[in-house]
Amino acid sequence: MLYHSTNNPSFRVDLKEAILRSLPPDNGLYMPDALPVLGGDFWKIWRHLGFQEIGFAVAEAFFGDDVPADALREIVDGTLAFDAPVVTLGPGDHVLELFHGPTLAFKDFGARFMARLMAWLTRDDGRMLTVLVATSGDTGGAVASAFHHVPGTRVVILYPKGKVSGLQEKQLTALGGNITALEVDGSFDDCQALVKSAFLDRELAENLNLTSANSINLARLVPQSFYYIHAARQLPDGVKPVFVVPSGNFGNLTAGLLAMKLGLPVDHFVAATNRNDVVPEFLRTGIYQPRPSTPTISNAMDVGAPSNFVRMQALFGDSWREMKSRVSGMWFDDEQTRAAIREVKTLCDYQIDPHGAVGWLAARAWRAQHPCSSTITLETAHPAKFPDVMDAELGAGAVEIPERLAVLADRQKVAIPMSTDKAAFRQWLVEL
Ligand SMILES: *Cc1c(COP(=O)(O)O)cnc(C)c1O
Repeated sequence: MLYHSTNNPSFRVDLKEAILRSLPPDNGLYMPDALPVLGGDFWKIWRHLGFQEIGFAVAEAFFGDDVPADALREIVDGTLAFDAPVVTLGPGDHVLELFHGPTLAFKDFGARFMARLMAWLTRDDGRMLTVLVATSGDTGGAVASAFHHVPGTRVVILYPKGKVSGLQEKQLTALGGNITALEVDGSFDDCQALVKSAFLDRELAENLNLTSANSINLARLVPQSFYYIHAARQLPDGVKPVFVVPSGNFGNLTAGLLAMKLGLPVDHFVAATNRNDVVPEFLRTGIYQPRPSTPTISNAMDVGAPSNFVRMQALFGDSWREMKSRVSGMWFDDEQTRAAIREVKTLCDYQIDPHGAVGWLAARAWRAQHPCSSTITLETAHPAKFPDVMDAELGAGAVEIPERLAVLADRQKVAIPMSTDKAAFRQWLVEL
């Protein structure tokens, strides 16, 4: 399979290039040349398959030309080492829990698959693959955890000193092994500038076999479609779900569209956002107007120029009408989100995080207009990741911290101090 740039369909690369480079040089996004469809054989038996079997079938449809079945199965099984259960809160009101991975958010699925696929693609390179990431918190944690213990890879994370939360810092600095954390005496922008300087240094980038594990990497998108199929399978036979997706950069929603293109019976998609409602506005008016983001309590969705929007457009042949017929948009503000967190607790005895709460509001609004529909709201992170908001709405200590997060508190932080000086950073990399 070849991959083309959304900016130029005749610019094509192979899988290795698309995954290791993340982005085409023309600043478009990579898309598969032919969108795969799963055959009738799969849709006859899909309800009886396990999560890993579904994942393998999807991965094979995308990557089967390039990756042999046994390797692909190992990549999928290693990725899906935890479940994504559907929980029912009330009639037609379902939640898909995507936070059972090591860093308690759905990004674990994409990051783990990407790590394993990258390791396989570079297996014969005869040298280490070095992943360089700057992080302001969460993304770095998911990437570090995903590459931890993956043979042939190492990760260098740069984070701004004193600017990430205590537990976030532990997620970056307490892993050890092939993960090295650099505590930069500067801002997140300084960290990004250092990373950029390393990639611009062609000789260095080549010698170190550098890759960026960028968030719009196609290898992060495809595995996110696994759980749409796995979720639909958990509803009664014959029920076509409406997927409600709390969205920021719209990778998650795009993965749902890929699942639909694979043949999954889907009633509709609802794109739920906070005040950063660029896509809901586009769906309403047909006018796409990116703008600077506004901070909210569902901050992983504070995006004013969603990076996957061009992929969504490509999937609908650049037709607003087509997109509108399958995707609706809704947005809610922080006050409504806070009230929803309290309401879900009181009415359903369920703790929902601020991102899931935005989705839950959209799901409820959708069911009010379509009373016979069944919504599946994606719960994108565990509420324990947002203690300030949860404590304020449900009372201090109401949310229990999962063991895998709690153990980090006792682990030792190991980080190398780094200045913002590019030459010093380069020298450190050279000696790595
Ligand atoms: C990243 C993230 C989102 C947004 O997902 P996109 O794929 O960027 O739309 C929503 N919720 C949480 C908790 C996230 O970490």
